[in-house]
Amino acid sequence: MQASRTGSDAPLPEAADVVVIGGGVAGVSTALFLARRGRSVVLCEKGRIAGEQSSRNWGWIRKMGRDHRELPLMIESARLWEQLAAEMPEDIGYRKCGATYLARSEAELHRHVDWLEANGHFGLDSRLLTGNETDRLLGRNDQQFLGALHTASDAVAEPALAVPALARLAEAQGVRLIENCAVRMIDHAAGRIGGVITERGRIACAEVVLAGGVWSRGFLENIGVAFPQLAIKSSVLRTGPAMVPCSGAIGSQRVSIRPRRDGGYTIARSGAAEFQLIPAAFRYLPQYMPMLRDRWQIMKIRAGRQFFGPLGRMKWGADDISPFERVRVLDPRPDASLLNDVMAGARELFPQLAGVAPVESWAGMIDVVPDEIPVIGPIPGHDGLSVVTGLSGHGFGIGPGVGLLAAQMITGDTPVVDPAAFSPTRFSRRAAA
Ligand SMILES: Cc1cc2nc3c(=O)[nH]c(=O)nc-3n(C[C@H](O)[C@H](O)[C@H](O)COP(=O)(O)OP(=O)(O)OC[C@H]3O[C@@H](n4cnc5c(N)ncnc54)[C@H](O)[C@@H]3O)c2cc1C
Repeated sequence: MQASRTGSDAPLPEAADVVVIGGGVAGVSTALFLARRGRSVVLCEKGRIAGEQSSRNWGWIRKMGRDHRELPLMIESARLWEQLAAEMPEDIGYRKCGATYLARSEAELHRHVDWLEANGHFGLDSRLLTGNETDRLLGRNDQQFLGALHTASDAVAEPALAVPALARLAEAQGVRLIENCAVRMIDHAAGRIGGVITERGRIACAEVVLAGGVWSRGFLENIGVAFPQLAIKSSVLRTGPAMVPCSGAIGSQRVSIRPRRDGGYTIARSGAAEFQLIPAAFRYLPQYMPMLRDRWQIMKIRAGRQFFGPLGRMKWGADDISPFERVRVLDPRPDASLLNDVMAGARELFPQLAGVAPVESWAGMIDVVPDEIPVIGPIPGHDGLSVVTGLSGHGFGIGPGVGLLAAQMITGDTPVVDPAAFSPTRFSRRAAA
């Protein structure tokens, strides 16, 4: 799960065209595509590249099951992952091994049929498998499943390898990556962005891209911008090598499982997460009610240490130590009892896992916005400031596409898809309506 280090202890650059805040998949991709468009880019990461969500995720690069508003960008992103993986000198575990959502009940099957019908016009290779086909895929013959939704072209990669490798591509393109360097504030000059104030000093720039993952809301609120983004903790485990008839990524109600490059499996449960009861949760609660209503059976609500902690309400100035320096890498404790049950579910699905024990578990703090699609674009009233955030639990797959779109919007190039659905102003418009 550990990401490799990229970066330098060299003196801070005095200026750049663009400063990107955050070294997850969103920030690294944005930096790469900006550099490919001739911009000088400095990326500041408070901890290490891909230290948070971007190395902790399951590694699914899927089009299947996505919201129709982000599917065109995801289709582009899937193409980019394939292209970028081919450019990388190292093996990041990228494989088009397919993804499958199993259906044990009629209700699950109907949900898959509905998604397929609603998104048929995108021309994907997603299709329904019969019960027999599903059995064959799982290497069983007990007809436990009524069928499945399957997309042969969906892919996987090892996040802890892939995002640092993406960062090295960006470095090779001229991006300056600076780890252990938190950006505290935006520096305004003559009514627009003049630079950023980091813990190590100021970098002058005309454009700033905030790609801070779960920290984006706090950063924006500190400069007076309300942004409805909350945090959800999600736990994962991995096993060592095992002989399981599972060549692609498989999702079922009780367990989601992905074969790893090292012969083991990354295992978790979709939607089984802890909604963090932080002060912002009360402020933005009405906007999150539909999501909470949908998932109340599987999602726990927790008022924990985050309430008064770094994701709580805070205010700081350019000379103060910011929350970003206090927590270099957000490393929440995994939910052991949930993971025990998840492992039992995995063994029920694949009895071959009976003698296989987990070798590592971890958790990640997912940033989520009310409509669960990315937020990409300029922040009104702060000329020169854009955000690339809110990837809402499925941003590893769409990350390169998100970075490309953000870079195109900043450079004024024709955008790869219509960015309207991703506008940061959509939440304030809704609140005002
Ligand atoms: C358990 C889990 C499973 C998931 N599974 C999948 C999956 O299978 N497929 C999929 O597509 N997605 C998945 N996701 C979601 C995906 O990982 C995220 O959507 C994506 O990684 C978010 O990327 P990001 O760059 O926006 O944020 P992050 O990766 O969180 O990066 C943000 C970075 O910004 C830095 N930062 C913040 N503020 C500052 C500051 N002021 N100064 C400097 N640096 C700062 C942070 O340190 C952090 O490194 C999963 C997520 C989790 C946690």
